Amino acid sequence: MSQDYDAVVIGSGLGGLTAGALLSHAGARVLVLERNASLGGAATTYHRGALTIEASLHETTPPDAPGDPKRELFELLGLEDEIQLIPVPTLHEVRWRGLGEPFQLPHGFDNIEAALGARFPEERDNIRALLTQVRRTLRIMDYGNPEHGAWWRIRNAAELPLDLWAALRDMRSSLSEVFERYLGDNEALKFALFPNLPYYTDDPDTFWWMGFATAQGSYMHSGGHYIRGGSQRLTDQLEATIREAGGEALTNSPATGIDLGPDGAVAGVRYRQGEDGPEVTVATENAFSNAAPHVLQDLLPKAVRASLMKPYEGRRLSISLMSATLGLDKPAAEFGIASYSTVLFPDWMERLSDFKHCAPLLAADPGERLPAMCVVNYGQIDSGLAEGGLHTLNMVCADRLENWEGLDSDAYRARRDAWLDALIARIDAEWPGIAGAVKARTMSTARTMHEHLNTPGGAIYGFAMVPPKEFPRKAPGTAETPVEGLWISSAYTMGGGFSGAIGGGIAAARAAMGGKLGDMGAL
Ligand SMILES: Cc1cc2nc3c(=O)[nH]c(=O)nc-3n(C[C@H](O)[C@H](O)[C@H](O)COP(=O)(O)OP(=O)(O)OC[C@H]3O[C@@H](n4cnc5c(N)ncnc54)[C@H](O)[C@@H]3O)c2cc1C
Repeated sequence: MSQDYDAVVIGSGLGGLTAGALLSHAGARVLVLERNASLGGAATTYHRGALTIEASLHETTPPDAPGDPKRELFELLGLEDEIQLIPVPTLHEVRWRGLGEPFQLPHGFDNIEAALGARFPEERDNIRALLTQVRRTLRIMDYGNPEHGAWWRIRNAAELPLDLWAALRDMRSSLSEVFERYLGDNEALKFALFPNLPYYTDDPDTFWWMGFATAQGSYMHSGGHYIRGGSQRLTDQLEATIREAGGEALTNSPATGIDLGPDGAVAGVRYRQGEDGPEVTVATENAFSNAAPHVLQDLLPKAVRASLMKPYEGRRLSISLMSATLGLDKPAAEFGIASYSTVLFPDWMERLSDFKHCAPLLAADPGERLPAMCVVNYGQIDSGLAEGGLHTLNMVCADRLENWEGLDSDAYRARRDAWLDALIARIDAEWPGIAGAVKARTMSTARTMHEHLNTPGGAIYGFAMVPPKEFPRKAPGTAETPVEGLWISSAYTMGGGFSGAIGGGIAAARAAMGGKLGDMGAL
């Protein structure tokens, strides 16, 4: 059997569906191949009995955040009316013994400066200086925003050299280096300012300052948001766009190979219909890989694998997460969880840099030391997740695939259960009584991410955000590959997270269409 498609997308994560939906919107006939039984990759929401599980999303920035790729996607596909983004009341609550009372990090730079200044009055100047660096870096990203008129540009022109200097000065710095410069050894202030580092890295000493300034800066500027009803809503909308244009999205259909023509360009994609089903070849001149380059190389003829991987040489993979979801028979607020997102730092941590010792803890059964964790109470907002009856609470900790390697399935399950018990005991110590309300529980680890998403090392954000060895960076920030007609559309294109993966999908669609979204001519 063979059928022609203008484009075949391998993998249905946000990067793949974004590329597929944009091509469909431009008139292309698109086939999406997904190896799992459902679409969305990490952007999935599912039910287990009365419990609704959000597989990934805690927070994302709104489309109007500086430089946010969602703006373009939402505008082009008219998603503003379909996807409801619920603002999260405060960015994070932080609990650490060195801070004293829990600290609430609000949204908005002025509010953040005021709240930090009130808690650390002796550090007011340093706080302002550091936040100014972040604001200036963000403004650079916003210069191209089409919504800014001539007056905005004239007003900000005088600041442009200083903004550029702020961005360039720390182009190769780590988070720890910049924090040290502005905040010295005030560790409590560092914990208060960047509590949610488990979302980005497992080591602040090697985390790229620019990742903090742009990604976390965006949250500081525009606030965190959750998609009402779960990340599945966005997945479903993108799938609908593809189907409405005559395309298809097949589940249980792993891609098994990419055929190249005599000219070396993409000529077809092979996939299996079900686990033991027959292999089918689809004729197409355009293939989009939502799967990691490390997976993609095995789909290609041996002769081109090395050139595909060359630009990625030496690039470290991002972290993974351990994610536990609990179903409570009472709202978490009844036990005192007052914030949407609370970060619990353990007592054994003395400095923010000690965070590097958290992820390795999961390589053994829980002991005296527990890792830092983010606790998300979806019941704090109108998340639309409690429809099954139970209230959803999620906890994440930084994790790595090697923590779980070499365990047979019984040993793996036993270790996972032990960690679930330990995490529940930890939140019960913080909010007494909550353990008694837990009526359902599940846990995903780096091994789940590796097996379910087919990501190398269980990486969930593509490549690690580490300072580049050289500037400008030689490694790719691009959808292009050395194979004609083959594009990367995922967290491995430009960066991870919802915004990063969507940006990767847009970049791939744009590159394939010759630079102009909506113009099928180049395909
Ligand atoms: C627990 C957790 C919490 C997170 N929290 C947040 C958050 O709060 N905010 C945020 O912005 N981001 C968050 N993220 C990260 C974000 O979800 C991801 O970075 C992003 O969704 C990755 O999208 P992607 O398009 O790269 O691909 P993925 O979602 O990784 O999907 C890749 C898809 O390709 C498929 N595939 C692979 N190989 C093949 C093949 N051979 N054939 C067919 N299909 C194949 C896989 O099955 C998978 O469906 C979180 C992630 C996790 C796991």
